[in-house]
Amino acid sequence: MFDRLSSSLQKIFSRLRGHGRLTERNVQDALREVRLALLEADVNFEVVRDFTARVKEKSLGKDVLESISPGQQMIKHVHDEMAALLGGARRDFDWSVRPSHVLLLGLHGAGKTTTASKLAARWKAEGRRILLAAGDLRRPAAVDQLRILAEAAGVEAVTPRPGEDLGGLARRVQQQAARDKADAVIFDTGGRFQLDSELVQELKDLRDLLQPRNVVLVLDAAIGQESVHVAQTFQKEVGLTGLILTKLDGDARGGAALSVQAVTGCPILLVGTGERPADLEPFHPDRMASRILGMGDVVTLVEKAQQAFDEQEMERMQESLVEGSFDLGDFLGQLQQVKKMGPLENLLEMMPGMGALPAGAKGRMEGFSDRDLKRTEAIIRSMTPEERRNPALMNASRKRRVAAGSGTQVHEINDLLRNFERAKDMSRRMKQMQKRLLRRPK
Ligand code: GDP
Ligand code: MG
Repeated sequence: MFDRLSSSLQKIFSRLRGHGRLTERNVQDALREVRLALLEADVNFEVVRDFTARVKEKSLGKDVLESISPGQQMIKHVHDEMAALLGGARRDFDWSVRPSHVLLLGLHGAGKTTTASKLAARWKAEGRRILLAAGDLRRPAAVDQLRILAEAAGVEAVTPRPGEDLGGLARRVQQQAARDKADAVIFDTGGRFQLDSELVQELKDLRDLLQPRNVVLVLDAAIGQESVHVAQTFQKEVGLTGLILTKLDGDARGGAALSVQAVTGCPILLVGTGERPADLEPFHPDRMASRILGMGDVVTLVEKAQQAFDEQEMERMQESLVEGSFDLGDFLGQLQQVKKMGPLENLLEMMPGMGALPAGAKGRMEGFSDRDLKRTEAIIRSMTPEERRNPALMNASRKRRVAAGSGTQVHEINDLLRNFERAKDMSRRMKQMQKRLLRRPK
């Protein structure tokens, strides 16, 4: 997510930090580069112009130029303006009535159906009673897709009866939601490759019938600036209360995310970061700005860990860490849990300073891909319990024995032992981080 933009901005700022004092000239130069980086990331031209104007005004102020670390001050202004651009405060769905209706709109392939089921699974896990409605009647396969995804999420889906039209389905969904005392109804709809008048009318009719508090556009971030145009059109024709950006895991340059709120005035509620049910994140403008600027997003990282990690397992591991008895067996368990949190690259982006690593270097963090995990498992299983508890025992002849037993090479065992030490260290730091965060009042 935002890899290129992130690394160019971080380069600009590391040069700025190098200057003991900032002059008007340094600031202008840096801002010109920031402007280029944003345009390169496909951020809307006018949005970039206003953004740099605001940062410039703040950065040329006396307090910045005369402060002890002007570079840092300027970065802070860029961060704050970027968070404002992304929408300022975190915004949630409107839950003021029950059941709360969520109408998901969007073009064909934007990710409506996938997002509907991700959202249902997420809210269900939070203890809400959810009903999904399959409102894409034009393609029979679309109803099946939603039915299958709903089943996997353990959420009930209301699907059209033979010959039933959208209005009929919507009324039936309303009745069932009332009867079941549902907390939310998520209405999936059909899309087109373009927003035409027939689709607009259909969506307006549905909106008038359901009177949803949440009319949410699902937008494919990978289509860049085009998505800003799409959002504007939907906003004008149907009216929106919020946005969900999907496919931010892909090679989206970030321009859409950075422009769409400013252009439409609609808050981004959630972002999709993959195809799996868990790949949906609440959108926090300030955390996202930190992530883009390489300051990391430790809060989201810890939240993800809390969701994915088996709590008892986690506690047991933390105890062994504290007691200093964390061993290779624990390490294996931990690797398996980390895998549940999603692709390592996504996680690394959330760690301070890691976002700037070139993609290749991230890939080289070993021991985490499926294949590496299998190899790691084979190696650890070929060790004696004594060796697992005390990896320092691993001398050359033991390494040769384990390599032969697990079908690996000695250098792979060395890699594993090194990664183990690193993980031990990282876990210790994660634990401290978590402690600090838990202490902080909400
Ligand atoms: P719809 O036509 O708007 O209902 O779109 P679908 O929900 O059928 O999604 C279209 C394709 O995009 C599917 O292959 C999804 O798996 C994929 N998709 C949806 N959201 C994401 C996302 O956040 N990341 C990635 N990588 N793929 C996604
Ligand atoms: Mg669909």
